[in-house]
Amino acid sequence: MMAMAMADEAIAEERKGRRSRPKRDSSLADFLVQFRWIVVIPIILPLSFLFYQWIRWRPVIHRLIHGRHSQDKHLEIVRKIQRKVMQRNPSSDGLICTARKPWLGIALRNAEHKRSSRYEVDLGDLSSIVWIDKERKLMKCEPMVTMSQLSAATIPYGFAPEVLPELDDLTVGGVINGYGIEGSSHIYGLFAETCTAYELVLADGSLVRATSDNEYADLFKAIPWSHGSLGLLVGVELRLLPIKDYMQVTYAPVTGSLQQIAQAYSDAFCPRDLDQDNPEKVPEYVEGIVYSATAAVVTTGRYASKEEARKPGNVINSFGLWYKPWFHLHAKSALKKGKFVEYVPVRQYYHRHTRSLYWEGGLIVPMGNNPLFRFLLGWLMPPKVSLLKLTQTEGIRKYYIQRHACQDMLVPNHKLEECLEFCHDNFETYPLWLCPHRLFKTGKGTMLDCEPNYENNKYPGDTDYAQMWTDVGIWGVPGPVLRQEVWDGVEATKNMEKWLIDNRGYQCLYAEVEQSEEDFWKMFDATLYTAVRKKYGAEYAFMSVYYKISNSKKSTPFLKSLKKD
Ligand SMILES: Cc1cc2nc3c(=O)[nH]c(=O)nc-3n(C[C@H](O)[C@H](O)[C@H](O)COP(=O)(O)OP(=O)(O)OC[C@H]3O[C@@H](n4cnc5c(N)ncnc54)[C@H](O)[C@@H]3O)c2cc1C
Repeated sequence: MMAMAMADEAIAEERKGRRSRPKRDSSLADFLVQFRWIVVIPIILPLSFLFYQWIRWRPVIHRLIHGRHSQDKHLEIVRKIQRKVMQRNPSSDGLICTARKPWLGIALRNAEHKRSSRYEVDLGDLSSIVWIDKERKLMKCEPMVTMSQLSAATIPYGFAPEVLPELDDLTVGGVINGYGIEGSSHIYGLFAETCTAYELVLADGSLVRATSDNEYADLFKAIPWSHGSLGLLVGVELRLLPIKDYMQVTYAPVTGSLQQIAQAYSDAFCPRDLDQDNPEKVPEYVEGIVYSATAAVVTTGRYASKEEARKPGNVINSFGLWYKPWFHLHAKSALKKGKFVEYVPVRQYYHRHTRSLYWEGGLIVPMGNNPLFRFLLGWLMPPKVSLLKLTQTEGIRKYYIQRHACQDMLVPNHKLEECLEFCHDNFETYPLWLCPHRLFKTGKGTMLDCEPNYENNKYPGDTDYAQMWTDVGIWGVPGPVLRQEVWDGVEATKNMEKWLIDNRGYQCLYAEVEQSEEDFWKMFDATLYTAVRKKYGAEYAFMSVYYKISNSKKSTPFLKSLKKD
């Protein structure tokens, strides 16, 4: 034990030595960000609460007024959208985009394309579940349905989507077009992999239903991460998983080097004998939270029945209740008290990071996890990201870009240790989130795919049909910023993008993207995307994915130059 502590200290000392940076003066922006809670607690939190109540009850009110949603009602809304797209005059109107206000989406970057000439199509009415088919274990929903709506609608039937991204506010359309990861992605892949059909309105206003094996299979495969640049997604069919009432959660502490952390995390879900499809050896949920360069907790989850959870001796913890400690801090207690197991109501487990927005909530409401605050005001948490975005000045936004890290790096799992070392040197931001996900081999030139020929040299987690990857989520205040040292977020992002290109990883596109278009298409494969954009007439109708997500300015003259003569 003593030797381990000395080793940890040596690692920490060595790391300190590696990064001595000059000091910087504090600024007014430092002060404003540090005391943002003065505005957030009395104004943003109550407004967020009302906003959440509106979102929660809106479908119920809608149902009371308009009756149950149905395929016919869904098609009525879709017809309106088709008409709107058909009315666009390609030579005078801007490029098509959704009418959703940029501040309503959760992505932190500026939606520059929404400042330029554009042709907005409102998808706001597409926010209902269309049907749930228990026999076939399928459901159909509209793209504005949120993750919170999905869990609320399916759990009472004893089902849940195979992958249910964590934050309540994420939309189905957003996670398919933008990201879509959760702690079960090491089995099922990203959210888009659990979808069986997409209904899309194309550039000419036609409606198509794309599946993996029909005439639109190329379109189906190109949609994930395309950010609405191929067509408007108006309906989604996805698979459902029979679930149980509780999640048995095991919290396992890991101390040691980043290499030991990476190894312990991988061992939690990647059997070394490569028996990856054996449910006995692979838990149903996994995540890692790295609290420092020497300490992490790996949590694994297995579904459990009410009877099992309530057996004498078992601990039930309803940690989603407003007065309970935030999840990542509760998990951290394993570092002190050692490994422990508890049973958590399943919906609370799915949305375990919502109340504290992972750990970002602590930066906005620093006393948010104080027991008194939780007890008195915890029910108001979290502040709604959209309201935070709406009320922040451009100066504060820039401050966050320069002094705050918010990026996700997707890397083949066997490169995790190198990635953690890189993150430490470049960001030194803790906690880090580790979430495994399978990339299913497509070999079809999709934007994301496995490393070439990975199957000839498999690592634990890999199978013939999928390679195991990990998302390293870097969100928070970097160590140098905490120590009042010089650190530049833009430079760190550029370093990260270069590292990812060199190591064949991917940057998650909700974040600030600094790379050039040329580099972007070195990171992502343009083969299928470009062919599909051409084939389905998207080129002069929808802005290309790079221009939608990058920091480059999309001025009206630039957009005009993209129009078809
Ligand atoms: C604090 C934070 C936490 C996060 N946590 C998670 C997480 O746990 N899991 C996860 O997977 N991701 C997470 N993300 C990333 C998130 O999934 C992406 O930002 C995703 O794109 C969210 O989309 P949204 O619902 O806000 O939709 P938007 O931002 O509105 O949409 C994303 C993109 O998809 C396009 N789009 C959306 N709907 C349609 C449609 N119907 N038709 C055509 N195009 C469409 C939009 O134009 C846009 O380009 C997180 C992000 C942040 C900032």
